Amino acid sequence: MGKLRKQALRAAFREAVFTRDGHCCRVCSASDTELDAHHISDRTTMPGGGYVKENGISLCKPCHRLAEQLWETGVAAPGLTPEQLYALIGSSFARALRACQERGA
Ligand SMILES: [Zn+2]
Repeated sequence: MGKLRKQALRAAFREAVFTRDGHCCRVCSASDTELDAHHISDRTTMPGGGYVKENGISLCKPCHRLAEQLWETGVAAPGLTPEQLYALIGSSFARALRACQERGA
């Protein structure tokens, strides 16, 4: 994938996730802080990197660090398993995968 296309994909992903989530952290509801669009399933496990809103959730920096703990230690922080994060946005691994496939990534 070209660099520019990847940048555009990432920007569209962030915007779609932040808009759906009302620009709030979906775990702690913080809104007056910098947000990240967290990939619930790792980029390597989804076609095209999983840049679909069904695989993304808005998290503040502290919540994002906790969510990333799963990839660093193999153990998810309480309440932050991928299944729990998908539930917060009404999605699932299967839905995210289907959205990637439908986009033709
Ligand atoms: Zn938070």
